[in-house]
Amino acid sequence: MHKTNFHTHTVWCDGKDTAEAVVLSAMEKGFDAIGFSSHMAFPEACDWQLKPELAGGYVREIRSLRRKYASRIEIFCGGEADYIRGVTTPEKKRYESMGLDYLIGSVHTVVAPDGGRVSVDSSPALLEAGIRECFAGDAKAFVCEYFRQQREMLKFDFDILGHPDLVRKFNVRHPYFDETASWYVSQLEESALAIAASGKIVEVNTGAISRGWLDDAYPSPVFRKMLRERGVRFVLSSDSHAADTVDCGFERFAEAEKYIGKTVFPPRGGS
Ligand SMILES: [Zn+2]
Ligand SMILES: [Zn+2]
Repeated sequence: MHKTNFHTHTVWCDGKDTAEAVVLSAMEKGFDAIGFSSHMAFPEACDWQLKPELAGGYVREIRSLRRKYASRIEIFCGGEADYIRGVTTPEKKRYESMGLDYLIGSVHTVVAPDGGRVSVDSSPALLEAGIRECFAGDAKAFVCEYFRQQREMLKFDFDILGHPDLVRKFNVRHPYFDETASWYVSQLEESALAIAASGKIVEVNTGAISRGWLDDAYPSPVFRKMLRERGVRFVLSSDSHAADTVDCGFERFAEAEKYIGKTVFPPRGGS
């Protein structure tokens, strides 16, 4: 099997280790390819993103690592870009000057009807406060809005849909909605149809396992099944924020989800 991971964070954004440390770890773990996906900046400054003034340095460093280790591993330079309704969109043309190989599109922030913003994955306390203040305590309304905004995002030009049910992150340790409720299953079905129609590749993201939030990947087994039945292509990713978690959970999901191994993700390749 071709072992790859295209979702990786480093000290260029909110990761713990340098890009070179990640490359060394990936080679030791037998990867054929590794892709970097720093959080792209949106118009407002934010401490977990790649600072706009460092964007050139990021690309240069990844390209130089690619040359240095060319005989041992393929290295790609990508980004993870947010969709925040009315604020920013994950579109390759926004980052054209960086010459990225690929772009992951992700929703980490839900915009409420009154314009308030709720962080999906920062902390259970912030999520709870956001739902209380921006959605009058209605978790169902918040979760439905998350999926609605994610479906809106699909019209933009990016390659991989990031963690498509991130709303589950805290739902085991701090339950706030029922994943078997019919309204939730309907949201998954509607999203699976929209994702299939968009042609986007979906990542099976093990990031919540290394962080200790879930003993499962995004998307959930139920959601994965719906997506698979609609012919969606998958790519396995760790969303790692440290060198030692670059293949966290890979063995388990590669084994459990045979279809992942058949997925070919073709980054265009920069110079
Ligand atoms: Zn993300
Ligand atoms: Zn990420």
